[in-house]
Amino acid sequence: MKPILFNLTDAELTQFVENIGQPKFRAKQIREWLQRGAPDFSVMKNLPEKLRNQLNDMAQTLPVHVVKKLESSDKQTTKFLLELNDCEQIECVLMRTSYGNSVCVSSQAGCAMGCKFCASTLMGLKRNLTVNEIFSQILVAQWELRIDRESDRHIHPNGDANNGDVSHIVVMGTGEPLQNTENVIGFIERANSEMGIGWRKITVSTCGIVPGIKELTKWGRPINLAISLHAPTDELRSKIMPINNKYPLSTVLDAAFEFSGLHNRQLMIEYILLAVRGENGEPELLNCTAEYAEKLSELLRGKNCMVNLIPWNTVDERDFVSPSGNAVHRFQDILIKNGIHTRIRRERGNDIGSACGQLRLNNKKQPY
Ligand code: SAH
Repeated sequence: MKPILFNLTDAELTQFVENIGQPKFRAKQIREWLQRGAPDFSVMKNLPEKLRNQLNDMAQTLPVHVVKKLESSDKQTTKFLLELNDCEQIECVLMRTSYGNSVCVSSQAGCAMGCKFCASTLMGLKRNLTVNEIFSQILVAQWELRIDRESDRHIHPNGDANNGDVSHIVVMGTGEPLQNTENVIGFIERANSEMGIGWRKITVSTCGIVPGIKELTKWGRPINLAISLHAPTDELRSKIMPINNKYPLSTVLDAAFEFSGLHNRQLMIEYILLAVRGENGEPELLNCTAEYAEKLSELLRGKNCMVNLIPWNTVDERDFVSPSGNAVHRFQDILIKNGIHTRIRRERGNDIGSACGQLRLNNKKQPY
């Protein structure tokens, strides 16, 4: 297998270039290109052509490589299908917005959590990703933004707050980050120190692994935490999220508010709005009736949190349907009346299967 130069330490990279008869300074040049996300050696224009060809034959740059790239019709969202060295595949998504460029990264190949509404878990868990594999996903996005600049693609109006680099990270791709906590923490530390991404611009989303949340608390960095709640009672939550049998609602929320309270941060609550097809073919609300809106309000009243309402995104293999726009607003109105901060999440990349919960390991059902 070809060595992956991104995975080498500085000392190892220097040794590598010396072994092929090159001066030491080449190691520094190569490192700079690797940190920019160079997909191969051909792009490393300050290396002699002969060396670039030699390196392409004998080594790889990153531990992930782009197999497919899909762009949404508004051009603001790009989804990447990435292949790892053992041929597992993962996905990540770049979202260009007026406030910055956000990357949604995967933390595992596949997922073991079994949530009934999600595409990521359909094929089970393959394995945890390493720190380098997670970090490389933001480098892939960073390289894409460089292509935007070079091709003079001005996706955003001038004068907005987007400086053209990756500025925000959400760990919300495939996998459960708090089942791979050590590597996720290692990744965030590096994103902060090497890419200068502030703690407050990084969000980790979990289905509610209590020991993992406690580890984040111990770690002590003021990142954002998002809890995938999706139901305000244990009875309903256990039906759609098996993990609730292990860590019931109250234990999840206690641990989560302890974490967010520590840094005086707002806890993000994610709440998918689910309906099922009723007998007459009309959607029948599941977790978003008026009664559940009142229960959710009771659970969160007086707490420092923001409820993101996410109308369910279609996953072919799953039997749910999305509630009507009216139903979504009725649910939100009750939360607002009860003093709960809430917003409806704008979905990005729905047309390329990269909206929440649509990411999954590539299989033939995907539009690649
Ligand atoms: N395992 C982590 C992170 C990945 S999921 C977690 O559970 O938080 C990212 C978000 O998308 C979660 O809130 C998840 O519940 C939600 N999601 C999953 N499937 C969805 C779907 N089909 N439509 C909308 N959101 C979905």
